[in-house]
Amino acid sequence: MNKLQELADLMFPNVKKTIADYEKIYPERSLKEGARVTRFAPSPTGFVHMGSLLSAFEDYKIAKDTDGIFYLRIENTDQKRSVENGIVGILNDLKNFDIIPDEGMIDEEHSVGAYGPYIQSERQEIYHTFCKELVLKGFAYPCFCKPEELEEIREIQELNKERIGYYGSFAKCRSLSIDEAIKKIKSGEEYVVRLKSPGNFNKKIMLHDEVRGDIEFPENDLDIVLLKSTDKLPTYHFAHVVDDHLMRTTHVCRGEEWIASFPIHYQLFQIFNFKLPAYAHLGLVMKIDENGTRRKLSKRKDKEASVEFYHKEGIPKEAVKLYLMTIANSNFEEWLDNNPNSSLDEFKFDFKKISASGTLFDVEKLFNISKNYLSRQSARTIYDNLVIWAEEFEPEFASILKNNQDYAIKIFNIEREVEKPRKDYVSYSSIKNFVFYMFDEYFENPIYESTKISDKEEIKIILNTYFAKYLDLSNKDTWFLKVKEMTDELGYASNIKEYKKNPKNYKGNVSDITGVIRVALTSKTNTPDLYEIMKLLGKEKIQERFTKYINSLSVKKSKIN
Ligand code: GLU
Repeated sequence: MNKLQELADLMFPNVKKTIADYEKIYPERSLKEGARVTRFAPSPTGFVHMGSLLSAFEDYKIAKDTDGIFYLRIENTDQKRSVENGIVGILNDLKNFDIIPDEGMIDEEHSVGAYGPYIQSERQEIYHTFCKELVLKGFAYPCFCKPEELEEIREIQELNKERIGYYGSFAKCRSLSIDEAIKKIKSGEEYVVRLKSPGNFNKKIMLHDEVRGDIEFPENDLDIVLLKSTDKLPTYHFAHVVDDHLMRTTHVCRGEEWIASFPIHYQLFQIFNFKLPAYAHLGLVMKIDENGTRRKLSKRKDKEASVEFYHKEGIPKEAVKLYLMTIANSNFEEWLDNNPNSSLDEFKFDFKKISASGTLFDVEKLFNISKNYLSRQSARTIYDNLVIWAEEFEPEFASILKNNQDYAIKIFNIEREVEKPRKDYVSYSSIKNFVFYMFDEYFENPIYESTKISDKEEIKIILNTYFAKYLDLSNKDTWFLKVKEMTDELGYASNIKEYKKNPKNYKGNVSDITGVIRVALTSKTNTPDLYEIMKLLGKEKIQERFTKYINSLSVKKSKIN
């Protein structure tokens, strides 16, 4: 028997198939011309960080724009990064943002799609088959170096100021004879499988990145590890090449931390004679620190880095997606301005519009997008989504809303169906603060903001006169006319211009009067349209609240001049 065959059989006694067999099992996909196949390939850590949500969202969009396929592959060859139910957690985070993979894992154990298994721990036989063929072709070999020996090589390299790594003459096991290797394996020595790199570090290669354009690299000459020693699981490099080839990925979009390994992956694709997919290396997602420096958005330090945060805050997923697209493609905002009523699906994602230098994550901007988004929703939609949010995070508020459905919808409709709708609400969690006073349950002990008029007797006169003689809610014009009539009667100016000319002639002006009415009814000095609020509260509640307010006041000297 050929020596290499003997070595390969010894290393992989259970491999029965060949690469050719797998090429048949996973044929080229029959998709329409130009359709892209992308993937999201996280470790099963149970959650998605905002940075990885952005790349999943981009991958999804890149595939969907071309009627392609987006799949979820779980990379669990590093057991340290696996947690219980880690896949379901990821799927939920994606689902919360409508990112539903076409293929891949659907829970901890099951998957859909014809290109699986979609979890690396179940692909052992495939990796071994591919690795065996490399051994047979002389492109891979067992390496028996112990950690101490690798350390020694490193020390020598550092001492002689040489490039660090396992390559060329430093790659000790490269020159072991096949017989020696066979002997060591038979005697039970531990080994890893390394690539026998055919590269020359002094030769340059040009690789294309969809985001950064052409990049020049030295050829790879590192004999990198393909299969790890203990469990013979693949390294990222090897699994990436085998998986993305067999799953027929057309576009690999991944973090920029993988750029340095690009020549290794290119070389492996060359050795196998596989078609190289397109690569897009995505920049880091960063934030500006309190002290003005840019740093990576960190799951540990930044609450906005976790996708859970948006769920809890009640930021609509649509707003998060609009923001993600804003930072993903630099021309998106302009497109949205020109196509305000189009859906995100109509925007075509462009690799050239991705920032190569990374993305700045600005949570304030996201809030602003959310504000604008919420201002454009109907009162009914706000109500429905708020109830869903509140059921999970503020059940008491949810039941109040459900017991007062029509009333609540009317509240949310104040200043909504107008040309420039009011933009108070940032998120579902912020709404209660803007509407609490409309519900008696939240108006038991209000903290009244102070008004220009603070004399108890004067306030009493204003509110009592108003309720007895001038309260008219039939329509807004009449309502205001009456307020002004009373203003004049009580010695205040109903005409602001007139007041500005001769302030000494008046006790104050109409806004001081409405200020008192507003605070009495809502406790706030700033609210949406007072007439609308009063109409919804109705006469009975108005009277109750006037009395409550008057009773809450202590006797103070008027500040009016
Ligand atoms: N599991 C790798 C990571 O999380 C995936 C990189 C890739 O997309 O190829 O970094």
